[in-house]
Amino acid sequence: MKIGVLGAGVVGLTSAWWLAEAGHEVVLIDRAAGPAAAASRANGAQLSYRYVAPMASPKMLAQLPGLLFPGENAIKVSLDRELIGWGLRFLKACTSAEVTRTTAAQLALAELSRLELERLLGQVPLDFGLRTAGKLVLFRKQSDLDAARPEDDGPVQVLTPQQCLALEPALVLRPDEFAGGIYTASEQVGDCGAFCDQLFARLGQSNRVELRMNTAIGRPVVKDRRVTGIETDNGIVEADLFVLSLGSGARAFARSCGFDLPIYPVKGHSITIADEGASALTHSVTDYSHKIVYAPLGGATRVAGFADFQGYDTMPVAARIAQLKSAAAAIFGLQASGDVEPWAGLRPMTPDSRPIIGPSPLDGLFLNTGQGMLGWTLACGSARLTVDLIDRKPPSCPPAPFDVRRFL
Ligand SMILES: Cc1cc2nc3c(=O)[nH]c(=O)nc-3n(C[C@H](O)[C@H](O)[C@H](O)COP(=O)(O)OP(=O)(O)OC[C@H]3O[C@@H](n4cnc5c(N)ncnc54)[C@H](O)[C@@H]3O)c2cc1C
Repeated sequence: MKIGVLGAGVVGLTSAWWLAEAGHEVVLIDRAAGPAAAASRANGAQLSYRYVAPMASPKMLAQLPGLLFPGENAIKVSLDRELIGWGLRFLKACTSAEVTRTTAAQLALAELSRLELERLLGQVPLDFGLRTAGKLVLFRKQSDLDAARPEDDGPVQVLTPQQCLALEPALVLRPDEFAGGIYTASEQVGDCGAFCDQLFARLGQSNRVELRMNTAIGRPVVKDRRVTGIETDNGIVEADLFVLSLGSGARAFARSCGFDLPIYPVKGHSITIADEGASALTHSVTDYSHKIVYAPLGGATRVAGFADFQGYDTMPVAARIAQLKSAAAAIFGLQASGDVEPWAGLRPMTPDSRPIIGPSPLDGLFLNTGQGMLGWTLACGSARLTVDLIDRKPPSCPPAPFDVRRFL
């Protein structure tokens, strides 16, 4: 089949790779000049296969009123019409039953992703700083640690503050400043932007793949309720099937197809600090209460966080960058003196934190989008599932939780 993949972020790139690997002819289309021009460029770098924590939860319900007021919150909300509709669905997802369903679905997709990334790297060596660094989640409050404590320890260890400090000597917190941590030794880190650059270069070498960059996607061409082509500013691209992977641009495209995808752009920020002799951290660390993640990326530390529900603006906000710098100084003594590469991206977030993977209401259009907070972690698994479903093969993980019909 000839398949058009819409979007060259990590989700579109992996979709394109897995589809070409399965024998399809692929046209990859993006308006940017290069890959990963949006949310996939400088994200938190965490391949978080075992710690998936959906955003919609009963606990989040309790915090919502406080988020509507301006302040230094890790999450900021400015209500607009799009967010109100999305928010009502988010509220419906804030039940224990839904958290259980989402967690199980995400864990299955994440495990598939881990295996598929491993398989990919067995075929094509890509250098993007992949490391099994282990993930330490720090909790400032005892109640948060107790709530996150797993029923069955499995691969996860619950640590006292002293044990956390011994594990990660770069931490400069005092033991009385936090309640403890949860450590998962098997978690990985890797630079998503570098992964995308290298996969893109490999795609360019494939005779099954055509790259159409600098090409803005407009409306679909629909004949007899089937998408047969896509209007772009470089003419119409025709294909037998299209995969929608436009990140936070997916909703606008779906609207032009006559249906709604509840994907809201949740803005996050990052800085990348060169280690410059300061004691570099060895593990990936999440400061749970401040919603900030720290990842060691060979010679630099990526600091990323915050969730701002404030529309489609992608410019980094100076106050958020300053908050990241002071958080890094307080927890690791990291001094961001020179250029820290301030960056912001929009996470394509569904109300229930589960991606949307499966057929769309229109023939000829398949959906692989809405990976939200975990797009880097879930990309390879999402691509595998996409190919399984398109090729009508037994799915490599249960597809039902990701079906768009839950929102229609
Ligand atoms: C601060 C931050 C930290 C994060 N940390 C992590 C993490 O540690 N681990 C993790 O797993 N995930 C993390 N994420 C989430 C992850 O980065 C995203 O889920 C993922 O990048 C989404 O990928 P995507 O391909 O769906 O979207 P994008 O990367 O946004 O790609 C969409 C593409 O579509 C293109 N496009 C859009 N509209 C059009 C149009 N009309 N015409 C042509 N092209 C168009 C864009 O140019 C872009 O290239 C983080 C995100 C942020 C913002």
